[in-house]
Amino acid sequence: MKRAFAVIILFFAVAAGAQSTLHERLTVDATDAPRNILHSTVTIPVTKGPVTLVYPKWIPGNHRPTGPISNVMGLHVRANGQEINWQRDLIDMYAFHLDSPSGATEVEVSFDTVTYNGTRSLASSKVLDLLWNQVVMYPEGIGSDAVQVTASIKLPQGWKFGTALVPANGARMQPDSAVFQEVSLTRLVDSPLIAGAIYRQIQLSAPGETPVHYLDMVGESESALQITDKDLASYKQLVAEAGKLYGARHYEKYDFLYTLGDQTAHHGLEHHESSDNGSPEDTFSDESAHNLEADLLPHEFTHSWNGKYRRPKGLATPNYQEPMKGDLLWVYEGLTDYLGNVLAARVGLRSPEQFRENAAYTAAMLDHRSGRTWRPLQDTATSVQLVFGAQSEWVNWRRSADYYPEGFLLWLEIDTLIRRQTNNQKSLNDFCKLFFGGESGPPIVVPYQFDDVVTALNQITPYNWAGLLRERLDSKSKRAPLGGFENGGWKLIYNSEPNATMKAAEKSGDNLDLSFSLGMIVGKDGTLRDVIPGYPAYAAGLGPGMKLYGVNGRKWSKDVLRQALRASVNSKSPLSLLVENAEYYNTYQIDYHGGEQYPHLQRENAQTDLLEQIIKPMATR
Ligand SMILES: [Zn+2]
Repeated sequence: MKRAFAVIILFFAVAAGAQSTLHERLTVDATDAPRNILHSTVTIPVTKGPVTLVYPKWIPGNHRPTGPISNVMGLHVRANGQEINWQRDLIDMYAFHLDSPSGATEVEVSFDTVTYNGTRSLASSKVLDLLWNQVVMYPEGIGSDAVQVTASIKLPQGWKFGTALVPANGARMQPDSAVFQEVSLTRLVDSPLIAGAIYRQIQLSAPGETPVHYLDMVGESESALQITDKDLASYKQLVAEAGKLYGARHYEKYDFLYTLGDQTAHHGLEHHESSDNGSPEDTFSDESAHNLEADLLPHEFTHSWNGKYRRPKGLATPNYQEPMKGDLLWVYEGLTDYLGNVLAARVGLRSPEQFRENAAYTAAMLDHRSGRTWRPLQDTATSVQLVFGAQSEWVNWRRSADYYPEGFLLWLEIDTLIRRQTNNQKSLNDFCKLFFGGESGPPIVVPYQFDDVVTALNQITPYNWAGLLRERLDSKSKRAPLGGFENGGWKLIYNSEPNATMKAAEKSGDNLDLSFSLGMIVGKDGTLRDVIPGYPAYAAGLGPGMKLYGVNGRKWSKDVLRQALRASVNSKSPLSLLVENAEYYNTYQIDYHGGEQYPHLQRENAQTDLLEQIIKPMATR
């Protein structure tokens, strides 16, 4: 760890030495948030010579060039009260060249940002999720650490807010507006703000305990924020479990920002001192939603250590215009996927059975991923800009952001290998403490590369880790790596019993997932969402985008299709599907007799149950 700290001191010294600090003032008028438009004014110091301003393009946590530049409107630049003309760069759509602001020492830039992004928005009648990168500009070429910003916000009347930012003068003058203490642009962008008419803050840390942790919630209704006593106890336990796992904390206080509503985006975005989470309105009351969302806060909290404090070198960029490299996302996101699921089970947000059903579904999905024969796991991370957000048709053949779920399998295998190698004296918990622990304090970034991960694993227990990792990352094997289950005393099996995670997902997304029988996924209206090459539906000629109308001569419904699958076991005739493809109807015969098939984990008694040990709490309850 000492070597890593020396590296980072040098990193910041270079950045700070190269550029003098610049002070910006940012005012955000969010009173129009309910109609999804924000008005911002940025005052930026300028010196003699050409001035180019940039709008953030590469967004941390997104790992991609997703800054919503097409949503920037009404742009005006003024100096000494006079309008100044701007011209967009011919190549870089995020850069604006200004006419010389003769004699002026600062320019005032005003513009609007629309927060509606098609299917889901960042604001509604009742809530706002404010991402500062969407409402700010800064001079081209400067590092985001060298820009200091004093930000202020005005909200709709009566709205309250939660954020990791600290209000200036230590007090909030009005509930619906605030001026924040000056912070670097890096820290501002890393500290989103949620606001809403219905707001609730609960302290998760015990009184007097530091650093303090808060759960800040906004929602579409009062009932959305009615967290159960059991969940509240779990989130308090999450703070304790993470402390035990990593042994240090790299923040001064932490805010779990949680938006509960169906009008705004369901997502999670990690930050050093907060996480920005969005879930369905009924998450605390509906069993299916609760099961599906259970690892969201544990996942994003984990990122404070894995992703923010320790960050792949290619993602630790000096500002938001510098391209990012995603090649180590199988650590940044893959290990976080694993730890988020493990922590959710350790704190009781998921039962051991739910943890196993979720793991079985993940494994089965990847074990039926036809694209793995051409696209290795490594490439799903390297091409994050392409796979993330790609259309859902042919996703099985294309592959998706598989470094998340396959990261779960990979790190489970590593965890069980360490446990077996060391006769259960050590585990991945020790790696986490070594790699993500260090000394507690305010946010810093310690970049790493592939070899640093291998070195740390070897410090826990010597093994050919580099060889194993490269084999898993570069493999074009048709089958998913299931060694973690085998080492851990479990086996992936299929039977006609529904899988609990799939059942919850069907209730929430309304798709019928027949991946493990016919090899296809059917939407609520009969549209085939995806078809898996190499499986029966594909062999019969079906493809995604086609629409199902009839099953064995009867009008299609989920129940009719399920019944036909069950009957296929004792039938000699093929399944007959009437399907529309771009205005033409056709009947497809699927020669399938395997019935319904869903994945589960089955205990192999010859081996010790390592899964049970992995999800055992570390902290006292
Ligand atoms: Zn993540």
